[in-house]
Amino acid sequence: MSGGDKLDFETRPNTAPVSAADRAALLANPGFGRVFTDHMVTIRYAEGKGWYDARVEARAPIPMDPAAAVLHYAQEIFEGLKAYRTGDGSVTMFRPEANAARFVASAKRLAMPELPPETFVDSLRRLVEIDRDWIPEHEDASLYLRPFMFASEVFLGVRPANEYLYCVIASPAGAYFAGGIKPVTLWVSPDYTRAAPGGTGAAKCGGNYAASLAAQAEAIEAGCDQVVFLDAVERRFVDELGGMNVFFVYDDDTLVTPPLTGTILPGITRDAILTLAAESGLQVQERPVSFADWQADAASGRLREVFACGTAAVINPIGGVRFPDGEFLIGGGEPGRTTMALRQQLVDIQRGRAEDRHGWVQ
Ligand code: PMP
Repeated sequence: MSGGDKLDFETRPNTAPVSAADRAALLANPGFGRVFTDHMVTIRYAEGKGWYDARVEARAPIPMDPAAAVLHYAQEIFEGLKAYRTGDGSVTMFRPEANAARFVASAKRLAMPELPPETFVDSLRRLVEIDRDWIPEHEDASLYLRPFMFASEVFLGVRPANEYLYCVIASPAGAYFAGGIKPVTLWVSPDYTRAAPGGTGAAKCGGNYAASLAAQAEAIEAGCDQVVFLDAVERRFVDELGGMNVFFVYDDDTLVTPPLTGTILPGITRDAILTLAAESGLQVQERPVSFADWQADAASGRLREVFACGTAAVINPIGGVRFPDGEFLIGGGEPGRTTMALRQQLVDIQRGRAEDRHGWVQ
């Protein structure tokens, strides 16, 4: 397919889908990332041929040669977003074209072919449509969509592959905060960083997450929920969490988040919060925050709230921070009012309960 041409999808419905009764049982308590729908989307790419063989078909294992390039050199990128059922029974997605644009940016960084954004969004729509019965009904549940692409060429050599497979799978997800919103405790790793300048920090590639696992294990060992990474050069400034961006709320109603300098993932939730916060009259700043200032401002009370944000949890309050030499609380460890107000605003837009002034909901 060359630019501008629309890719035709061939649909081959699953001939042995999960029964309605079994599906209902799975949807009653899906958890996260373990239950999958009946179908998947696949599109192939070959150098010189472009994108071809677009399908919506039964979800099934993908046969793979042991020399497939991705297994050796990790040329892989992915995305994550949710489809929701709204009050009137329609189905919505939040800013899928933003995920499409980030997928293109990730592809460029990993020297992979760029999937046209309209094909990306089309692929999501088709999967949601055929598997719409898999979208959980209840409040705060959703269908998590996972588009990804990897180097499928059978070749052992360190160069961009000539063949790729793009795929979308879907997984019903229960409410993230089933037992009520719970502030998390963060661990500041003395040993590990996430992304260096010039590296892949701004791309959503599997390798970034593989590299974060040892740090996450350290966090769990220290009794914390998640890691917060400091910058890789000076180990002074806050970058982000392993899978979420971070925001600071000060007592003069200033909202601060680290700038997009290439080492953090440009979160779509982050972007939406910056817009909503500015509209609600908060002073919004994208600037570096040092760990030393974080600690001092939490102690003085100038720093009122800290929260993390991302597709999975939307907004998650941060109650405390632990590091090898000590720990401190933020706002007494309780969720703050600005955090909770921004969360409510965003969730209401995503669920079709509030006016979508920015055209974010499809
Ligand atoms: N940072 C990282 C490292 C992430 O994996 C994610 C989740 N995609 C985010 C931030 C938040 O991004 P988004 O709001 O687009 O989900």
